[in-house]
Amino acid sequence: MPPIQRLPQSLINKIAAGEVVERPASVVKELMENAVDAGATRIDVAVAGGGAEMVRVVDNGCGIPADELPLAVASHATNKLAEADDLFRVATLGFRGEALASIAEVSRLTIRSRTAESQGGAQLEVPGGKAGEVVPCGCPVGTAVEVHNLFFNTPVRRKFLRSRQTEFGHLGEAFTRIALAVPSVHFTLRHNDREVFELPASDGWLERIARFFGRELAEGLIPVESIEGPVRLGGYVARPTHSRSNNRMQYLFLNGRHIRDRALQHALGEAYRGLLMTGRFPIAFLMLEMPPEMVDVNVHPTKLEVRFQDSGRLYSQLLSTLRGKFLSTDLTVHVQPADQRDPSGGHDEARAAQLRRELVDWAKGKVASWGTEGEAGSESPVRSAFELERSADSPRPLELTQLERSWTPPGDVSGDQSGQSPGGPAEVLPLTSAGRSAPALQVHNRYLVAETEEGVTIIDQHALHERILYEQLRSRVMSGVVETQNLLVPEPVDLSAAEAATALEHRELLGQLGMKIEPFGGDTVLVAGYPAMLANLSPVELLHELLEQLLTGGRAPDRRDLLDELLHAIACKAAIKAGDRLAPEEIAALLEQRHLVDDPHHCPHGRPAALVFTREELDRQFKRG
Ligand code: ADP
Ligand code: MG
Repeated sequence: MPPIQRLPQSLINKIAAGEVVERPASVVKELMENAVDAGATRIDVAVAGGGAEMVRVVDNGCGIPADELPLAVASHATNKLAEADDLFRVATLGFRGEALASIAEVSRLTIRSRTAESQGGAQLEVPGGKAGEVVPCGCPVGTAVEVHNLFFNTPVRRKFLRSRQTEFGHLGEAFTRIALAVPSVHFTLRHNDREVFELPASDGWLERIARFFGRELAEGLIPVESIEGPVRLGGYVARPTHSRSNNRMQYLFLNGRHIRDRALQHALGEAYRGLLMTGRFPIAFLMLEMPPEMVDVNVHPTKLEVRFQDSGRLYSQLLSTLRGKFLSTDLTVHVQPADQRDPSGGHDEARAAQLRRELVDWAKGKVASWGTEGEAGSESPVRSAFELERSADSPRPLELTQLERSWTPPGDVSGDQSGQSPGGPAEVLPLTSAGRSAPALQVHNRYLVAETEEGVTIIDQHALHERILYEQLRSRVMSGVVETQNLLVPEPVDLSAAEAATALEHRELLGQLGMKIEPFGGDTVLVAGYPAMLANLSPVELLHELLEQLLTGGRAPDRRDLLDELLHAIACKAAIKAGDRLAPEEIAALLEQRHLVDDPHHCPHGRPAALVFTREELDRQFKRG
């Protein structure tokens, strides 16, 4: 064994860099955090080549005095901690004093800065961690840090970098987390000289959320707030109509810092228990504020995770705040403008009252016993509130063939209303005729209007069918029973080089969906089999659709998400379209299957699939009540 030696500083820095600087996104995160700590009101981020080529962050914060520049890029040098106890009341984003040193070690870093007191600026170049001389330069008050050629001197790490697009995706997420945390700061992000985000300072959080995730999502959010002792919880959560297939839309901030916390994520899931389908995750933007001494932020190199003094209390605060809010919020989709809405929720009074009572009991029980896994899940009244029309005899296997589009299109309207044969008229379906064999009226070849016990339901035929197909496919894929229909003669399909590569790379995944493909040489692949349940789609067309999804939608690195995206794509493609005229049998089959899906009210994209007009609402509109 060789003798024990002290490591040279540059090696120490490289080791630290390994923890702090994983990819270009880490650089953006650290530089933006420094700018926020410096009290900047405007922060401009520009990157090139996914961030690996160049990252530049310019701020108008307090700046660094020229003589302190060498310290700023030295490791374990910071102005954010003075004594040991400060570590337990950190109020800034940074405090370890190793970010700039670590980044400089594995890149060519240049820092330019000027304080308000000084006449001119100063510049320091630090290629590969070796600081040069501080030289004067002209620049405005604030700091600009430019990082070129990340990992140029650590080829192994460089090899781990993914495509520019993927790296930019991570980088965008890092940008989002910080820009969401401090809405009062003006941020911009440019990639290869293209503007990606321009976010003016705003005093409300909602405005910033809308800039990132769209006005539609932001406007539907439910505000939540609670104060328990020194802990304030505030923010917004989405209605159950908006959910995701993963938890990436759960943004949690602690004293202005984005964090991940398993326990709090779990509490969030619990709060929505029964309101979302299994496998769906709520969307939330939550800010926790508490005195810094109540939390230890020094447990994770990038400070993504923290340790709370009393995480049990936080868990129940979050859970009970959301539960309380949901109890007083009407979560169903209604068609009336909010200001006219009946506070009872517009349903049949007695039924609504009963559901509410059950919901309260259930919620109380859950909050009281949050530590133990309750069995309330599938039986919860909240769930039944969302499925008022679910029929009792539902667990019958779904016959997809009932909705095959191979039916002959309906012929001329003959005026014969008893004509319920497949070729009969579809438009003139009597709603309340003696036989009641037609369950709904099709209007504009896209909506179905049905009478229900509580009033009238209007269904989007495409959205509902898409939902049905999606759930059916998903359950088959999950249980591994997608049947493949083998082709007698495999069909060669010419693809682009990228498509062919993608097809072969994801061969196994496609196989799980029932799509069998074989390499054929060049950019041609053979389709040897296709999902039997999708007999009405052309296998070649389906393959193209899936490849397009894999190529463009590649935002889901996780296999499950990818599968989910493909399922959505297939369901959308295979579903009846708006504009398809349906035969009475098809309408009947569609409505019959409606009771078998987990969430008949929404298509897989979360758009409403059905609107409910209660009789009370209609009476009110017609001034009868
Ligand atoms: P930390 O943020 O943990 O203190 P860094 O290595 O990120 O460590 O930065 C070192 C020091 O350099 C900071 O403590 C701060 O004094 C100074 N500094 C870095 N970036 C900026 C900036 N944008 N504006 C003003 N000062 C900065
Ligand atoms: Mg820092």
